[in-house]
This record gives sequence, C-alpha cells and structure tokens, in this order.
Amino acid sequence: MASQQRPADPGDNPYRFLPKVDQVLLDPAWSQAQERFGSEPFAGWVRETLDAWRARIADGTWDAAAVRAALENGGFTQDLRARLAREQRRGVRPAINLSGVVLNTGLGRAPVHAEAAERMAQAAGGYSILEVDRDSGQRNQRDQRLGELLARLTGAEAGIAVNNNAAAVLLLMHAFSKGREAIVSRGELVEIGGSFRVPEVLESAGARLVAVGATNRTRIADYQRAIVNTTGLLLKVHTSNYRLVGFTEEVPAREMAELGRTRGIPTAWDLGSGRIEAPGAQALDRVGDETVVRDAVASGVDVVTFSGDKLLGGPQAGLIVGKREAVATLRRCPMYRALRLDKVALAGLEATCELLLAGRGDELPTRQMLLMEAEATGERCQAVQAALQTIPGVHVTIVPSSSQPGSGSAPTVELPGFALQLRVDGWKAQELAQALRRADPAVFSRVQENVVWLDPRTLMPGELEGLCQAVRSIAPGA
Ligand SMILES: *Cc1c(COP(=O)(O)O)cnc(C)c1O
Repeated sequence: MASQQRPADPGDNPYRFLPKVDQVLLDPAWSQAQERFGSEPFAGWVRETLDAWRARIADGTWDAAAVRAALENGGFTQDLRARLAREQRRGVRPAINLSGVVLNTGLGRAPVHAEAAERMAQAAGGYSILEVDRDSGQRNQRDQRLGELLARLTGAEAGIAVNNNAAAVLLLMHAFSKGREAIVSRGELVEIGGSFRVPEVLESAGARLVAVGATNRTRIADYQRAIVNTTGLLLKVHTSNYRLVGFTEEVPAREMAELGRTRGIPTAWDLGSGRIEAPGAQALDRVGDETVVRDAVASGVDVVTFSGDKLLGGPQAGLIVGKREAVATLRRCPMYRALRLDKVALAGLEATCELLLAGRGDELPTRQMLLMEAEATGERCQAVQAALQTIPGVHVTIVPSSSQPGSGSAPTVELPGFALQLRVDGWKAQELAQALRRADPAVFSRVQENVVWLDPRTLMPGELEGLCQAVRSIAPGA
C-alpha cells in the first residue's frame, strides 16, 4: 500500500501498525466467528475493515499516533465486530415500514392477518393435508379448496393458484399461445416493476406478440383485423404503475370477451392489483378506480389474473379465476407443475379468503391501512411524537402528508393523512434514513425535501417500542 506522505522516520509510517490479515485469522478470539461464517468470507471482512482504516490514513484523518491509539482502544476489534453484526442482520428480517407505501414490494408487500400468519407457521413447521384427500387417501389438487374460495369471492366458475402473478401470466401464455399469436393492445405493452415486460414474457413463452392499435387508442376492430388461424389468445393487461390520460380509448373487456367467444379464441385479463370487494367489508373505492375482480370476471373473459399480495392482502401468489374449461386447460399445462404454489402461501391464502368470506375483511391489515382516515393517521402521529420526543436530541413535527397504495395499484392515488418529520441532532436526512435502516429493528422512512418523514399509516401493532429503540440507538449520547 503506497503512502501519500513519505515519512522520514519509518517508525512514523502509520500503515506499519495495521494488523496483518493472517494475524487476525490466526487469532483465537476470532475462531468462533470463522467457524460460524466461514473463513473465506471472514477474511474478506477483515480486508474490508483494514481498507477502511487505510482510507483514513490516506486521506490524512489518521497519523501513526492516531492508528496506535485506535488499536489500543480496541477500535479494530470493534469495527470488525460491527461488520460481523451487519452480516448477521442480513437476509429476510423484520422491518418497520414507515415509508408511506402500503404495498411496498421491497418490504414484502402485504402483511397478512394474524390468523393467516398462524396458519402459515403451522403449515411450515409440520405436515399438512396438502395434496391428498383425507377420506379416500387419494391424491388430489393442492389448490382445489383455494380455487373454490376464490370462485365464491369473485363469482368465477373456478380458480387456480401459482407462485406470483408474473407466473400466472407466463402460465396463460404457455397454455394458450405457445407457438401461436397473442394479440395485445399497443397501449398495454408495459413493463411492470422489476423487469416484468409483457412483450418479453410472451416471447419467453414461445408466443408471437401481435401488437394492435396505437399507444393511446385501440378499438375492437384492431383486434378483429389481427385475428388469424393461429391466434391463441386475446390479452388485456392492466397498465398498473403507468397511466395514459387525455385522448385515449381502450377496448372494454366485454367487447374483447365477445369477440373471443365468437371466434373461438381464449381471452384473458391481467388485472395485477386484484381488488376484491367482500360482504361486510368497507369498499376499497377510496383506493382508486381499480377494477373489481368480480366485475372483470363478469365481463365474460375466460380468465382473470391477479396477485395474492397486492390489494387482496394475502401472501405472495398469482391467482387465476375464470371459466371452468379455461382453468382446466391451465391445470393441464406442464408449466403449471413448475409454477404451482407452496403449502405455506396456500395456507395463508385460504385463511385470507375465509376471513373475507366470513365478513371479516375489515380486519385485514392492508385494508385497514389503505382505508385509514386522515384523522386516525393524525392520532397515530401524536402517539409516535409523544414517545419519540422524550429522547434527547430528537425533534418531531407533525405535518400533512399522503401515502400511496404501492405495487402499481392505483398509481395516481394519494391517501391523505399526516406524517412526522424527524430530525436528530448531528444527522443529515440521507444519513439518518440510512442509520434507521441499519438500526435494530430496521426502520424504513422516506426522505422528502431533505427531511426524514415517518408515515405511521403502516405502523403495525406493537412496533412503537421498536421504533423508539431504533431512534434511541442513533440519538446523540446513545
Ligand atoms: C404486479 C403486476 C404483475 C406482477 O405480479 P407479481 O405478483 O408481482 O408477480 C403483473 N401484471 C400486473 C398488471 C401487475 O400489476
């Protein structure tokens, strides 16, 4: 490592005092850590820690005396421990979502109802009756019951479940348009977050995309003209996080369904967000004009697809409901076996659907968050403010704000409410937000106008103490 300054006396060379990698690796104090994480990654973190020290020397922050003092104070051990602690906190861990995005894909989208979570834990921790009939002992379909529940919720004849909605669309394309044409409106050839691009999915399924109409206007005659002998599918896609406004026209699903029926071509509608309205539960119309799954089914298209973890408020899944025959075709497709849903998600979805059918939809956490009145978010702000402002160096202000549904559901909708602006002495906004993410528990805020905003709409029961703990851990004097 080349030193910038060239010290006259080699005893002043600060690099000389840095521990050697091999020396650290052989130190018995670190043997347990090496066993636990593996010696190769551990050696990497030692190098990383040393690099950070070298950088402090190189930029003139530390001279030889400072390096020696830091070593004597156990600074190197501390830094390496901190690096190990960071490693231990990687992976899927709990987080407090105060980002203002209810269905936050980065934070796992929908938190499920406690009863659904319990059923999921049971399914994960033991055997379950998954794919066998308990009366006859014969194999059956794992998503048969879920399909029935979905059918009741949406007015469809049948339902089937796969890993996520992207998988649902992929399955449609394999089953109906592999080696054939799929007709889609140019206005609907969208990319939906995380590189799910309709044209590419079609292509990967071996379907030939036939784009019809113009970006802003497509009419039923455009579909009609494009139909050939080998047309396998007429597909309608919800444009999710993208919206055309102004001089636009899209073909109503009813007309597309009618055309498909008269020409003997299957029709599908990828709804994405999957808004379900259930008896005894408040309507989700405040969350925008998302099409209700029941209405999409009633339009007469053969199948409708949507996510389990968007507006439905369940675990990750792709749900397909529609005509019995079309669903049976999907089930027979070899792709289904590769895309089918796991028992944990199935258990959670059954529980979620049962709650909705039992008139308990208002208990679902995501529906509560989406429908929370501005006033209630204000009350939450006051409770959070009261707790946080007892911490020295912490300043909290309540301000009007708005949250978003997220996950491409109702992209233009703002859910009005209140949020907290958090300032902590000695911290700039971006660094504060990062420190909160790194805290234990991890807290996700948003930075807006150079201030950290905490949106309490998505604060889950029992999380206030964790939030205080996280803020306390970075407050001055912590
Ligand atoms: C979200 C969305 C998808 C992808 O669904 P995942 O469940 O995330 O796989 C596909 N299509 C539309 C229209 C969507 O909104």
